[in-house]
Amino acid sequence: MPLDIPTLYLVSTCITALLGIFLLVLWLQDRSVRALGYWASAYLIGGFAVAVWIVSPDLLPAAGADLASALLFTCCGLIWSGARKFHGGEASVGGAVAGALVWLVATRMPELMQWDNSRVIISSLIITVYAVLTAIELRRDRRNPRGGKASQARALLIPVMHGVIFLSPIFTTTLFASAAPIAVNGFFPLFALLTLLYVVGTAFIVVVMAKEHSALIHKTAAMSDHLTGLFNRRGFFEAAEKLVLAQRKLGQPVTVMMFDLDHFKSINDRFGHEVGDEALQAFAATASTSMRLHDVVGRLGGEEFAAILPGGTETALMVAERVRSAFEMRGVEISGHAMNATVSVGISESLADVAHVQTMLARADRALYAAKKNGRNRICTEKDVRDAAPAAPSPEVFGTTEDAMAANIADAVPA
Ligand code: GH3
Ligand code: MG
Ligand code: MG
Repeated sequence: MPLDIPTLYLVSTCITALLGIFLLVLWLQDRSVRALGYWASAYLIGGFAVAVWIVSPDLLPAAGADLASALLFTCCGLIWSGARKFHGGEASVGGAVAGALVWLVATRMPELMQWDNSRVIISSLIITVYAVLTAIELRRDRRNPRGGKASQARALLIPVMHGVIFLSPIFTTTLFASAAPIAVNGFFPLFALLTLLYVVGTAFIVVVMAKEHSALIHKTAAMSDHLTGLFNRRGFFEAAEKLVLAQRKLGQPVTVMMFDLDHFKSINDRFGHEVGDEALQAFAATASTSMRLHDVVGRLGGEEFAAILPGGTETALMVAERVRSAFEMRGVEISGHAMNATVSVGISESLADVAHVQTMLARADRALYAAKKNGRNRICTEKDVRDAAPAAPSPEVFGTTEDAMAANIADAVPA
C-alpha cells in the first residue's frame, strides 16, 4: 500500500497538536500532576515542528528542516523533563534543549554533513538518548521504589517502543548503506507512520500514568493524618493488614504497640491547644524516626498512636524503648515551653497466621492501661499484664466476643 508522505505529515501534525491540547486541558483540570504541563507543551511543540517541516520546502528552504528537527528534539527533551518531574526529580531546562543545541551545532559542521545519511543518524541518536533517559526516569519511580505490575509493564513497554521506533533508521541506513539515501528507499513513510503510532501510544500511557498518580495523591490524602503526616486510622489498618499478610508468608510473628501521651489534657490546659498540637507533631516525628523502614506507625486519634512491627516482643521492646526514651528527651521542652512530656506504651504480640489487627490493638491497649497504672512514661507487654494478674481468666469470664478471640489468640503466642 503506497503511503503518501505529505498526507502522513499533515495527519501527524494535526494528531500531535490535538493530543497536546488534550494533555493541556487535563493539566488545567488537575494541576497536581505538574509533569502534564511539560508533556502538553512537548506535544504542542511537536505538532508545530511537523507543521514547520511541511511548509519548510516552500517557505523556509534554507533552515526550515533543521529548525523543525531542533523543535522536535526540544519536544523529546520536554518529555524527559516531564518524566523527571513526574517521579519527584527536578526538570532541567538545559537538558531539555541540549539535544536541539547539539543538532544545530552538528548541522553547521560541513565535515560531518558530508557523510551519507549523517542527519538521519544524528537525529536518531539524539532521540534515542532522550528516549533512554526518559525510560530510566520512568523505571526509577522515586516515590514508589517497588512499583506495581502496571509500572513494571510500562517500564518494559516504553524502552522497547523507543528502541524499535528510533533506532530503526540507523539499522536501515546501515543495512542499505550502498543504496541511495533513506527517503528513496521508501523507509521514510514507514518511519513516519511508526512515529505517529508511537506518539498516540505514548499519550495514552502518559494519561494513564497521570490518572494513577492523581488517584494515588487522593488516596494518600484520605489515608494520612493532616496534623502529623502519619497514617490516620484507616491508613494504619490498611498498611497493618499488608504487613500481617507479608509476615504470614514468612511464618513470622507481628507486634502491635499502642502509644498514649501522658497527662496530655494538662499539657493542653497549661499551654493551650496549639502547643498541644505541636507536642503531637513532635511525638509523631520522634516515633517515625525511631522506627525501622518496615514498621508501620499511625495516629489513631487524639493523643493515641499505634504501630505494627514485624517480629516478636523482644524486638518490639527495643523499638518501644527507643521511642519512649527519645520522646522523653524531645519532650523536655517543646516550642519553648518546659513541658516534660512523656509517653506510655503497651505491646501485644501474635503469630501472623492468627493475627487480627483490631484484636491486637485491644490487647495492646490493655497493656498500655497497665503502663499508665504503674506510673506512666513506661512500657508494658501483655506478659507483664498476665504475670500481674492473680490467675489466667478463662475465655468465658471475658464479656465480649473480641475479648474471647483475644484470649484465644494470646494462647497461640509462643511463650
Ligand atoms: P493519661 O496520661 O491518662 O493518658 O492522661 P491524658 O490527659 O493524656 O488523657 P485524657 O484522655 O484525659 O486526655 C486526652 C486529651 O487530649 C483530651 C483532649 O482535649 C486532647 N486532645 C485530643 N485530640 C487533640 C488534638 O488533636 N490536639 C490537641 N491539642 N489536643 C487533643
Ligand atoms: Mg488517651
Ligand atoms: Mg493520654
